[in-house]
Amino acid sequence: MEIFRIPAKLQSYALSNKRCGKTIALVPTMGFLHAGHMSLIDIARKKADIVIVSIFVNPIQFGPNEDLNKYPRNFERDSKLCEEHGADAIFAPEPNVMYAPDASTMVEETKLSRPLCGARRPGHFRGVTTVVTKLFHLAQPDYAVFGMKDAQQLLVIKRMVRDLNFPIEIIGAPLIREHGGLALSSRNSYLTEDEKNRAVVLSRSLEAAHAALAKGGLEVVPAVLDAMKHEIEKAGGKIDYVEALDCSTLEPPTEKTAGLLVALAVYFGKTRLIDNTLVWIKPL
Ligand code: AMP
Repeated sequence: MEIFRIPAKLQSYALSNKRCGKTIALVPTMGFLHAGHMSLIDIARKKADIVIVSIFVNPIQFGPNEDLNKYPRNFERDSKLCEEHGADAIFAPEPNVMYAPDASTMVEETKLSRPLCGARRPGHFRGVTTVVTKLFHLAQPDYAVFGMKDAQQLLVIKRMVRDLNFPIEIIGAPLIREHGGLALSSRNSYLTEDEKNRAVVLSRSLEAAHAALAKGGLEVVPAVLDAMKHEIEKAGGKIDYVEALDCSTLEPPTEKTAGLLVALAVYFGKTRLIDNTLVWIKPL
């Protein structure tokens, strides 16, 4: 397995593989890899000749009071996992080689990135779309795999790829959970044992919401969201948002809505966790 630290080196590796007719799948990550990331790598492995995993804690997608500096890192462990799962290359640059000191170009999606995390983390999705664009130019992928764990991110990337004509197929991968239901996340490493136990309420309340909405449709949305908030607060979670939006527009549902994205961001202690579920509702 190759390890690249320099953008131009990755780009020539990718271009020379493409010239030989090889297909490439990219799995962008911020590292501290877990079974959720591994499932993305496994999907990529099945899709393409060459699998590139990027590991980059992208400073421009973090707000000034967020966890950039304490974000967990373990490159040795990550590279072992990537190798075990058949990755051909890791791209792990330092921020200073990714961004020139006078970099002044950003890529911004302006609709799907507004609500939910976009409203609470100004500039976050602009940071994501900018770095993903750079990674696409460097890794030259035919396929890129993103997790449903970050459902809004997946939608934003798909929209960007459509709007800007990137010749890349975006693959959405299922959300992987722990046995108790907690969505796997690198940020789970911040949680105390007690917080981790209490955070199980997130997947439980999403599961209950899923069942209620699948049965009751749009009419029961307000009651379902209230019940979720109540349960989460009872378990000691501090709600950032709990919302149900049309899963293709990320706008409030209308009579045209076929599917709902029920998404939440909740703090346990200082740790902000996100989770979601997609519900196909009955036509009215
Ligand atoms: P991150 O390292 O958190 O930026 O995540 C990198 C990629 O892995 C993103 O596409 C995430 O959506 C995906 N991912 C993270 N956690 C999970 C999970 N529990 N299940 C599936 N995909 C995940």
